[in-house]
Amino acid sequence: MTGSMVSIGECMVEMAPTQDGLYSRGFAGDTFNTAWYLARLMPEGTTVDYYTAVGTDGLSDRMIAFMGDGGVGTSHIRRLSDRTVGLYMIELANGERSFIYWRGTSAAKRLASDRAALAEALVGRSLVLFSGITMAIIDAEDRDAFLSALQTARGNGATIVFDPNMRARLWPDAQTMRDTITAAASVADIVLPSFDEDQREFGDTDPQATIARYRALGVGCVVVKNGAGVVYAQDGDEMATFEPVAVKNVVDTTAAGDSFNAGFIAARLGGAGLRISIEKGSRLAAQVVQKRGALVDIAD
Ligand code: ADP
Repeated sequence: MTGSMVSIGECMVEMAPTQDGLYSRGFAGDTFNTAWYLARLMPEGTTVDYYTAVGTDGLSDRMIAFMGDGGVGTSHIRRLSDRTVGLYMIELANGERSFIYWRGTSAAKRLASDRAALAEALVGRSLVLFSGITMAIIDAEDRDAFLSALQTARGNGATIVFDPNMRARLWPDAQTMRDTITAAASVADIVLPSFDEDQREFGDTDPQATIARYRALGVGCVVVKNGAGVVYAQDGDEMATFEPVAVKNVVDTTAAGDSFNAGFIAARLGGAGLRISIEKGSRLAAQVVQKRGALVDIAD
């Protein structure tokens, strides 16, 4: 099937250490990573766009070019002359990775401030994807209008997909985060949480409790990722579980959840059953965690 998808959020410049104090530059971000994998997985003829705001400088140009090279459409991306893209550096100490961010004034914070541009980016979409990071980084006064725009797209036939991706440090306090995540999930048809986060932030006792909490908001389909543990899913009355393939050599779990989302969405939209779809997501994520970086070459 063909269709028109848009993923919305922030893509950042990634500086990853190579050797002797040198870094290599990449581009990544949760919702962008999912778009990048979707562009690989969806049948020819499907549009996969990214919607964000970037600067007008050369680095922003290179980010846009990188997206295009990955098959991700960039025609709706806003360009703001007074801002630029956010950046993070990966620090390696004793084999442990940590991340340092510069995103406080990034252009992406303003992605929902031009209501007309946002509405236009949503026209004619069969699927719209966003995350808890999207909600966290956009200016607080834009959040309600952003969710209304998604509601409108949903009313026009778009399937809305939400990954809660809760990052406490992006939020002023835990209650604001929980309230906003709950409001965002309430406009979604498909919610793709990760159990460790929902356990930590909402006190869910098990993945079934996570499913029940989102379903109580009216969400039809909930898929609960769980690292190396069993994935639980429910869509309407259909329930499924899948035990991920055991990966012996986990190299880098960056984008495990993002790639899972793409594998799941592509399979489900292609008409696969719930269990097969979570298996596809898991198999893609299992490939991704065996390589360094968020965006890795994948086998079919
Ligand atoms: P996130 O990256 O959002 O925290 P998870 O850690 O839950 O998400 O991982 C997402 C998916 O990636 C899991 O549901 C699983 O399919 C796969 N995955 C992650 N870690 C492993 C692992 N160690 N072994 C096998 N599969 C894994």
